[in-house]
Amino acid sequence: MKKHKSHSRVLMPFKENGHSHKKCLDSALITAEKTCLARGVRLTRLRRRVLELVWGSHEPVKAYDILDKLRDEHSGSAPPTVYRALDFLRAEGMVHKIESLTAYVGCGEPEHRHIGQFLICRACGAVAEMDDAEVRELLAEKADTLGFHIDREMIEIKGLCAACLTENI
Ligand SMILES: [Zn+2]
Ligand SMILES: [Zn+2]
Ligand SMILES: [Zn+2]
Repeated sequence: MKKHKSHSRVLMPFKENGHSHKKCLDSALITAEKTCLARGVRLTRLRRRVLELVWGSHEPVKAYDILDKLRDEHSGSAPPTVYRALDFLRAEGMVHKIESLTAYVGCGEPEHRHIGQFLICRACGAVAEMDDAEVRELLAEKADTLGFHIDREMIEIKGLCAACLTENI
């Protein structure tokens, strides 16, 4: 068995309640601006605002909730423009779609392309993201034994985060 070093990183840990979320938000917006600049794509005002709304917390946000908020701000915000902005942010890796919840969550490291694995707390709704090559390789290997080729991976695991677990004891 050859043993190679796989990277395993936590892209977004579970955040403690009452942490300074403004810092998360500010750093997400700065990273988004830098990343867009480096890639030669535009972070328009709408895209930036949508990103800001997704980053309102560490819980996934539904597209229609974003739309509702934008409608309060500008009466002309049409669903297609919001969906297009979300598609852009997804394509650039700045947000991820949590398929099981049809909701979006911000990514802490959009500057590195990755396919993350998500841990979703069923009590508080918070999401953590890992980028674990070992998990991906193992799955690919197992699928391969069934002659199956993976072309789209969604790993979304539900449970309780540490904070909710202590509360539930
Ligand atoms: Zn935060
Ligand atoms: Zn990510
Ligand atoms: Zn929780």
